[in-house]
Amino acid sequence: MTTRPLDVATALIHDDYQPPPGFVAPQPAVHKASTVIFPSVAALKSRDWRRRDGYTYGLHGTPTTFLLEERIARLEGGTHTVLVPSGLAAVTLVGMALLQPGDEVLLPANVYAPSREFARHELARWGITHRLYDPLDADGFAAQLTPATRLVWLEAPGSVTMEFPDLAALARTARAAGVTTALDNTWGAGVALRGFEHGIDIVMQALTKYPSGGGDVLMGSVTTRDAALHERIKLTHMRLGLGVGANDAEAVLRGLPSMALRYAAQDGTARTLAAWMAQRPEVAQVLHPALPGSPGHAHWAAHCTAAAGLFSVRFRRDIAVERVHAFCDALRLFKLGYSWAGPVSLVVPYDLGTMRPAMAADGAGTELVRFSMGLEAAADLQADIEQALGVLAG
Ligand SMILES: *Cc1c(COP(=O)(O)O)cnc(C)c1O
Repeated sequence: MTTRPLDVATALIHDDYQPPPGFVAPQPAVHKASTVIFPSVAALKSRDWRRRDGYTYGLHGTPTTFLLEERIARLEGGTHTVLVPSGLAAVTLVGMALLQPGDEVLLPANVYAPSREFARHELARWGITHRLYDPLDADGFAAQLTPATRLVWLEAPGSVTMEFPDLAALARTARAAGVTTALDNTWGAGVALRGFEHGIDIVMQALTKYPSGGGDVLMGSVTTRDAALHERIKLTHMRLGLGVGANDAEAVLRGLPSMALRYAAQDGTARTLAAWMAQRPEVAQVLHPALPGSPGHAHWAAHCTAAAGLFSVRFRRDIAVERVHAFCDALRLFKLGYSWAGPVSLVVPYDLGTMRPAMAADGAGTELVRFSMGLEAAADLQADIEQALGVLAG
């Protein structure tokens, strides 16, 4: 039989040319798919999407996302990672996977604010309650756990107020009560802090920050080192239809090789500027866990050697909030914007009075300014802050 030539529309789709195998380059390829093609009906019918020895559908993983999952598991010191479209989605996935009506989740009083909003407005609708605990009161923590407590979130340190808890003690207390612990490790990033080494069950990270490093990708990860716990999270992940695009996964894979260097550079700049600011007459308090006197400094020293490139400053009480805002507006290299760990230094003012009333009551100014270091030279950043401090007097 003569084979009828295919129409060009079909021929372009079914062209069987394949490039030769053996192309190896430093950076992994971008494999994009919703559909994955099976060689036979038998392969299609027998394929188990939960196994990582093949491919089923783009939502369940491609070579690019599998690779990133493995790298993040290694970074965190865990064994299994799932990827989600944002850091916040990683927080919500953990809640959706582990909690049911009647359960209670404990959050630190300095929790990343959107995580608290998720508990307050979404978990609440499913009959799941939340309570805040004092992250610096490890001794009183056991009394916070009730028979309904199923999950405890930890952050080290709080990403705006920078209090560093006794993470290992909190994890020990929760474990003794049979309560699962989850760490938001966006600050420690697997570089300064590895949660599993301190007895944490689940470690989540906003890959948006350090792993990406570009300020141009949103992604989150949930890592475990317990197969049963991973299976639970993975099933909920699948049922919620959470997945990440291959281009974004590749962007994070491109950020990872320079991550430790970027982390160290931003750490150094933050410590230099934090120490300098602590000497300034306008400043009442500098919050940076590596500074002696910052809340939880001893716990930071017991858990970490490095620190992320973040610190917060409280000015003297007689400096009006409007002056503090004028200071932020006067900065030229520090841009106004959320997030951190990108190349550009950022600054955001926060009202400590609404955010953390207990901390605001001590007599220093209540408008806190959080600085996040980019990759600019420290001397240029210091000069920028110095020129902007001029407006505090005016
Ligand atoms: C940024 C951040 C998140 C959320 O990450 P997104 O990708 O922006 O959703 C969660 N926790 C902390 C501590 C963060 O800094």
